[in-house]
Amino acid sequence: MALREGPGVSRLQPRLAGAPVRCTSCGALFDDEVWNGLRLVERLGAEEVGKLVLRWRADECVEVRCCGACGRGISARRPLPRP
Ligand SMILES: [Zn+2]
Repeated sequence: MALREGPGVSRLQPRLAGAPVRCTSCGALFDDEVWNGLRLVERLGAEEVGKLVLRWRADECVEVRCCGACGRGISARRPLPRP
């Protein structure tokens, strides 16, 4: 069954625990450690994402980071960093 997503997050990849993030432009894969080292462009918390997606966990966020291979932005569903 396909995941239903709002228009603003149509390219958002579902997060699987431990699964690497794939760049939608060049296909490069980034595991958690590498992903967290990429330049952060934007992070949206549950409050913002909740406006676009009906069901959203409060402990998850959307992060946009620059791909380490091609430099384009990648948006990914990520666990909310603990302060
Ligand atoms: Zn890339």
